[in-house]
Formats: sequence, structure tokens, C-alpha cells
Amino acid sequence: MAFENLTERLQSVFKNLRGKKKISENDVLEITKEIRVALLEADVALPVVKKFIRNIRERAIGVEVSEALNPAQQVISIVNEELTKILGGGESELLKSPKIPTIIMMVGLQGAGKTTFAGKLAKKLKEEQNARPLMIAADVYRPAAVEQLKTLGMQLDIPVYEEGTSENPVNIVSRGLKKAADERKDYVLIDTAGRLEIDDKLMNELQEIKAIAAPTEILLVVDAMTGQVAAQVAKTFDEKLDITGVIITKLDGDTRGGAALSIREITGKPIKFTGTGEKLTDLEVFYPERMSSRILG
Ligand code: GDP
Repeated sequence: MAFENLTERLQSVFKNLRGKKKISENDVLEITKEIRVALLEADVALPVVKKFIRNIRERAIGVEVSEALNPAQQVISIVNEELTKILGGGESELLKSPKIPTIIMMVGLQGAGKTTFAGKLAKKLKEEQNARPLMIAADVYRPAAVEQLKTLGMQLDIPVYEEGTSENPVNIVSRGLKKAADERKDYVLIDTAGRLEIDDKLMNELQEIKAIAAPTEILLVVDAMTGQVAAQVAKTFDEKLDITGVIITKLDGDTRGGAALSIREITGKPIKFTGTGEKLTDLEVFYPERMSSRILG
């Protein structure tokens, strides 16, 4: 059941409230302490937790402790509502350019799951919209990346534009875009290079690709397992590239997904999809309410 973790914690706080009519400020302190621990355990960044707690405090103080209603449940539904709100409220659709092709650029650190996500998204677009995408292999630094994208393309019967690993990625993208225009493709998915950590050279290259491709979407792919690091990564990529959305991968792992909350709060950018496995079908639309349940555990 959702919220078991927090429910249990709050239950013990509320035991001490029997006989009281309203939750006092002191009680709220105890309650927020439990919420704080739950969020930190889910790997939400501390400044984000603090801000969140401030919002909750105001709403929790007035809650009535009645016999009929379960006050712990009431507080949890407030927490759930606020979390869902921060996570974006509802789902956030993939943007589409008014004229073809819609260009989508995938960015992120090495190993986050960019290439895999490119394949998953291409498959989804092809199957759900009958789209004709072209994928461009612009990750020339990780030698296996070009091959990986080519293999995905073959599996999905989706063309991949590539020039091996010795050409300049900006030129590759430029020629790939020309091909897409000539063939009137409706989507172009650009798989860019990552690094193990952010460096200026990478960012400059991505900025150059952005400048020539003018993408409708710049999707940052982050690994949920990296927790708080993911939030920092998202902040930097957003500052440099003004990303349009976030993809959180590896949610099939045992992480509670607190990274999602931190990223959303720090960048303000919508989370669009989640990766839930290595297979091409393991892609889900991001639903804030589901993520809220998961974070609270
Ligand atoms: P890139 O360097 O960002 O292009 O990363 P890759 O797409 O090569 O992915 C790195 C590794 O993560 C590969 O082994 C993928 O199979 C794996 N991977 C990608 N997305 C997911 C996911 O949602 N769940 C799991 N469990 N593994 C994933």
C-alpha cells in the first residue's frame, strides 16, 4: 500500500494527540520531523525538503483531530497533494513542432540511459503516431554508442544517420538534419555525447548542436539511482542549455525516486517520461501522483 512508511511514522505521533481537538504548533513540529525523515530517506535534496516542510507546516496546523477521521491520513493527503503539485500536477506531453520535423535532442551524463531512451521514444512515436523518425548518432566519444543506436534502429526498423566516430558531432548533426529534411521525416532524435561528469567541452559542444538544430525539445536523461547527484546535474544542464524536459531512468531499481522531486523543484522543468527497465517497451509517461506515492513509500 502507498504511504505505508509515512503512515506508520505518523501513527505513532498521533497516538500522543488523543484527546486533543486540534493539532498544535508543537505537534506539527513532530509531524514535520517524520515527513522530513521520510523525504530524506527517499533521497530528496535537503533544501527541497526544507522548503516543502515550510509549506506543509502551514497547512497542517489547522487540521482537526477528530475521532471519526484519521488525522494521520489527513496529514498524508495534504503531503500527497503538495508533493503532486510540485511534481507538476498532471502529465506533461511531448512538444511538437508546427512544421516537420520535430527535433528532439537527448542530453545527459554517460550511462544515464540516453541511447536506450532514444530507441524507446522512437518506437513509441512510430507505434502510437505512425511517425517516421530519423535517429542521429552524435555520441562519437563512447565508441559503442553509435553501434548501439544502429542496432536499436535495425531492431525497430527506424533509420539511423551516422558517420562513425571520427567526425565532428556538430557536422554530423547538420548533415543528418539535411537528410531528414530531404526525406521529409516528421521526427529527428539526436543522441548526443555524455561524459562521466560535466565539463566545459561537453557543454560547448551541446550548445553548438542546439544552435544549429534549434530543437523543439531538449530532454535531459538522468539516472534515478544517482539520487542527489541527479539534481545537481539537472541544475547545470538547465543553466547551460535551458532544457525543456526531464526523463528519469532506472526507476525499476530500488530507489524511491526522490531525485524526481529535487529535479522538478530545482529546475522547474517538467518530467515527461520514466524508464523502468532495459527493454524497449520499458517506457512510461510520468504521472506526478504515482511518483508522490513512491517517494513517501
Ligand atoms: P547512455 O550512455 O546515456 O547512452 O546510456 P545507455 O542508453 O547506454 O544506458 C546505460 C545502461 O543503462 C545500459 O546498460 C542500459 O541498458 C541501462 N538502462 C537504460 N535505461 C534503463 C532503465 O530504465 N532501467 C534499467 N534497469 N536500465 C536502464
